[in-house]
Amino acid sequence: MRVVVTGGAGFIGSHLCRALIARGDSVVCVDDFSSGLGSNVLALADSDRFVLIEHDVRERIPVVGPVDAVVNLASLASPPAYLARPLFTLQTGSIGTQNALELAKRSGARFVQASTSEVYGDPEIHPQTENYWGNVNPIGPRSVYDEAKRYGEALVAAYTRDGLNGGIIRIFNTYGPRMRVDDGRVVTQFISQALANDPLTVYGDGSQTRSLCYVSDLVRGFIAMVDSEHPGPVNMGNPQELTVRQIADLVIKVTASASRVEFRELPQDDPQRRRPDISKAQSDLGWAPQVDVVEGLARTVEWIAAGAHRDAAVAVST
Ligand code: NAD
Ligand code: UDP
Repeated sequence: MRVVVTGGAGFIGSHLCRALIARGDSVVCVDDFSSGLGSNVLALADSDRFVLIEHDVRERIPVVGPVDAVVNLASLASPPAYLARPLFTLQTGSIGTQNALELAKRSGARFVQASTSEVYGDPEIHPQTENYWGNVNPIGPRSVYDEAKRYGEALVAAYTRDGLNGGIIRIFNTYGPRMRVDDGRVVTQFISQALANDPLTVYGDGSQTRSLCYVSDLVRGFIAMVDSEHPGPVNMGNPQELTVRQIADLVIKVTASASRVEFRELPQDDPQRRRPDISKAQSDLGWAPQVDVVEGLARTVEWIAAGAHRDAAVAVST
């Protein structure tokens, strides 16, 4: 297959590009590096089945030749990142998604949309099932991301009703190596604070919950979705639900850190709880996560610690 991955130089995208190349596919990675990094896909540059196009998906996507599948991951994803660029986020989720859909339509390709558990907002139904319509504040600061993703789903559904082979994955909090250590998401933030023996900044009282999925599990799900004709939406995440306070304690334990926890103000509209019902992914795609959170955190810590050492070595030698 020849697969176009928008946002392919980002965290999830780079793992997906690698997995597709590893199974013999050709990949065209389209990314504007607004949050992605060239280093994420550097190792793929040697493959003659990998092409990188630096491009903003808000403009028509200039891929030529046959395309079998388009996976649309382009979007800022970390709350501090999307809150800092509200209009860019709205435009990427709307115009960018439409441009990716147009590429799939003119190529007769399968289309898979990276949607999010944020479409459920601050959910009144727990755990979240795909038939829940959500509880999103349409004018709150987070709406630039949530509503762009909801509009993206509406676009995919409209194109699919019109004959496109489209599918939607609703991703729940996913973590692992190659997340940006500085992007403010909870796992990387806590790990870098713990490795520095700095206080872990827990927002609110830490009773809000998240369910953390390790990236290799999610990537298996994406590939199953690419290979199917499932329209979705399908939840993908790890149903092991933890409070943010428990995540902080786990990170301190895994890093054997001397850090303590400090409480900070809870950001506006921060969802109180998050846990996927994954029965649909299990029954329809045979998908379930396999990596336990302690194991996944340990692998992420190892990766971040290795990077910190590398950066320190560079700083010393320059
Ligand atoms: P990321 O920030 O690492 O990756 C996003 C990528 O999209 C980056 O490489 C960025 O440069 C690129 N991008 C952003 N705007 C673009 C534009 N206009 N044109 C071209 N490229 C653009 O984030 P991630 O965690 O890898 O998320 C990937 C996708 O998965 C996003 O769509 C995100 O909304 C979705 N998602 C992620 C999570 C998660 O927990 N990681 C949860 C729900 C949904
Ligand atoms: N969080 C926290 N401290 C931090 C970063 C995040 O307590 O330094 C909390 C945040 O308030 C939220 C949860 O961790 O309740 C997950 O935040 P993240 O930004 O990773 O993703 P979200 O699920 O909110 O999009």
